[in-house]
Amino acid sequence: MIDYHLHTLFCNHATGGMERYIQKAIDLGLQEICFLDHLTIQKAEPGLSMTPLEIPYYFQAVRVLKKKYRNQISVKAGLELDFNPEYIDFIQDIIGTFAFDVIAASLHFPGGLDVVSHRSAWRHGEKDVDDVYKLYFNHLKKMLDHRYFDVICHIDLIKKFGRKPSRSFERAIDEILSKIKEKNLTVEVNTSGYNHPVGNAYPSPDILRKCHEKGIGITLGSDAHKPAEVGQHYERALPMILSAGYRDLATFTKRKRSEIPIKKRENIHYLNEVTDSNASK
Ligand SMILES: [Zn+2]
Ligand SMILES: [Zn+2]
Repeated sequence: MIDYHLHTLFCNHATGGMERYIQKAIDLGLQEICFLDHLTIQKAEPGLSMTPLEIPYYFQAVRVLKKKYRNQISVKAGLELDFNPEYIDFIQDIIGTFAFDVIAASLHFPGGLDVVSHRSAWRHGEKDVDDVYKLYFNHLKKMLDHRYFDVICHIDLIKKFGRKPSRSFERAIDEILSKIKEKNLTVEVNTSGYNHPVGNAYPSPDILRKCHEKGIGITLGSDAHKPAEVGQHYERALPMILSAGYRDLATFTKRKRSEIPIKKRENIHYLNEVTDSNASK
């Protein structure tokens, strides 16, 4: 089992040193983890991300830990890059400078609108829901015109606060998934959604099933912002992943994808937990 989405102190809004994340992952029996700290270049929101100047320190810190723990767990270095069309060249320069294992793209500020933080106007009931959904999916399509990343994080993040549009966005989602397939990109299953009002993983089971039908590969991550969150809610996500039809998860080394099988026997504790809690309902 893997956890391909861990944050660190470098992003300024996570807690706990990097080694505590690694220790927690070893305790859980994970084979491989990937630090995926934020790089958000957005004027209005300080404290959400590393600054570009901190990237060398972050990269070096992961490299040291990779070596130190190599006999216990595989540690990978990645970046979660916020899509901002104004900074594509700048971002490409940064990526080109360091040998990251994986580059992930996400969309927290479509068109400059904060759709992710708890203090956002969107969270507090302002903004037209249909308009914001449209804005989000339009930006996602634009993001897919670029080719600097390997993984798309929390693809339906817009549902986070449980606000529901009055119309279906299925067509937009289908178009997006076709683009993802065409570019051979990987979709992340992100379990942090279970912590928020929507109470569901990103993507939802119906989108995940479509991903499988189209032959799109997936990876899996907790989006942990503290060590205790490593591998969170896997007992809920794994049955969903298996019932969508997946038997493998994608991992990355210097931006080359490989697949590792989801071994039911080794993950039986996650699968049992959900059966037990279903039985007690
Ligand atoms: Zn994110
Ligand atoms: Zn994240």
